[in-house]
Amino acid sequence: MTTNEFPAGAGDWSSLIADLAADRAGELFPTSPAAVPDRETAREFRLDGGELQTIIDRLPADFARTSVPAEASGAIPGHSSAGADPFQNGFRPLVAPLAAAPGGWDAQAIHRDFPILSEKVDGKNLVWLDNGATTQKPRQVIDRLVYFYEHENSNIHRSAHTLAARASDAFEKARGTVAGFIGAPSAENIVFVRGATEGVNLVASACRSRQKPGDEIIVSHLEQHANIVPWQLACQETGAVLKVIPVTDRGELRLDEYGRLLGPRTKMVAVAQVSNVLGAIVPVREIVQAAKRYGALTLIDGAQSAAHLPVNMAELDCDFFVFSGHKVYGPTGIGVLYGRREALEIMPPYQSGGNMIADVTFGRTLYQPPPARFEAGTADIAGAVGLGAALEYLSALGMAAVSLHEAELAAYAGEALRRVNGLRLVGEPPERTGVFSFVIDGVADEAVSGRLRAAGVAVRVGHHCAQPIHRRFSLERSVRASLGVYNTREEIDFLVSLLRNLR
Ligand code: PMP
Repeated sequence: MTTNEFPAGAGDWSSLIADLAADRAGELFPTSPAAVPDRETAREFRLDGGELQTIIDRLPADFARTSVPAEASGAIPGHSSAGADPFQNGFRPLVAPLAAAPGGWDAQAIHRDFPILSEKVDGKNLVWLDNGATTQKPRQVIDRLVYFYEHENSNIHRSAHTLAARASDAFEKARGTVAGFIGAPSAENIVFVRGATEGVNLVASACRSRQKPGDEIIVSHLEQHANIVPWQLACQETGAVLKVIPVTDRGELRLDEYGRLLGPRTKMVAVAQVSNVLGAIVPVREIVQAAKRYGALTLIDGAQSAAHLPVNMAELDCDFFVFSGHKVYGPTGIGVLYGRREALEIMPPYQSGGNMIADVTFGRTLYQPPPARFEAGTADIAGAVGLGAALEYLSALGMAAVSLHEAELAAYAGEALRRVNGLRLVGEPPERTGVFSFVIDGVADEAVSGRLRAAGVAVRVGHHCAQPIHRRFSLERSVRASLGVYNTREEIDFLVSLLRNLR
């Protein structure tokens, strides 16, 4: 296997890493134990920090880990080793986070990384199963935000003083971290936005100028409203037509129907990589490839995938990819629009004002090239820096390890939920993440959530901003339990024991 052949499934990633550890060690560490793997090595092999760490852990003893110099160890604020500058290192994720104990997944250590998980809620231990709505934040992110405001706070780019330089460096470093995390070719592919919603709105709005009556935009039946309504608005304005890929009773996209929808009029295909209701993993790579045959642009909504699966832009080959910081263990108010360079370059500005201009007279304005062209006004600077810390945290855990942990937990949760009398899962997609929506016959959703709330278990109730897919299953609403890195089998057992006693 060459490192350019990337398998899709989570299970395959672990074997890829094993292969790499066995076969590619000589290439990763070509000379001697003194050779230090760095960010460039990781980029070249398209590995995240956790994966590299796994390889390092599996190397023979003579590749002593002491070959990684202390200053490359990338200490995290609050947990830093003396003297190391936590934010200027080349490739911090080489160091396992506190949570990633050698040789395994240390659920307790991960739990300790998230202060809010020790919070008593109404006198009960908090069990956070609302990760689809938002994730909790590790100490590393919280400390990074505090560090920013205590040591770096300034507006960026415009002033010529030390704090402006620190804030600008931190902000642009975060852009690079995002690029590395999603395997984007460069930081210039990364536009900071408020979240996935703004990312889709930006693209839908900017692409309007290229659409004409009769053009077609394809979404899927699985979409969250954020990936439906912006396209409806675009259609209303341009006369383009919205087409919808249907799903099977299990919740899989009907790729045969998708093939029939595609045609020379297709201008945009916008689909979620993971459904926020069913947890279904959508074969987005195939969808993108098919769209390309008709010259259509493609947008992948990664709101429910970026924190749960390894994502790689070279692999997906899409034009645009969006995700939200708060769903990847980072702050609210910040998110990412990835754009292929050629795709970003043809788009006109979305909002206008400072920061996005090259030159202004009253007669005309010249714009900055992307990404600045799409970042009018003062950005959420601290948010971006906090997002960078969140992605470094995930990278240090290793996205392969994260997705394996969650796949195991999802399999366990699926079986346990199916055994609850009267419980009906919304969809049964064969490829899924740990998002489970369900109803219990004869028990109102509020009664379910009320019982769970009283026991300290946080789930979501409602339509989860995805009414069309609920209606596809003849429902208006459901209860949703969604998993993250800190969840455990014990928490699933607790959830199920509460649900069992409801009828
Ligand atoms: N897409 C999907 C699939 C989602 O689950 C969500 C959030 N529930 C969004 C888009 C919108 O994310 P945000 O509200 O963070 O912009």
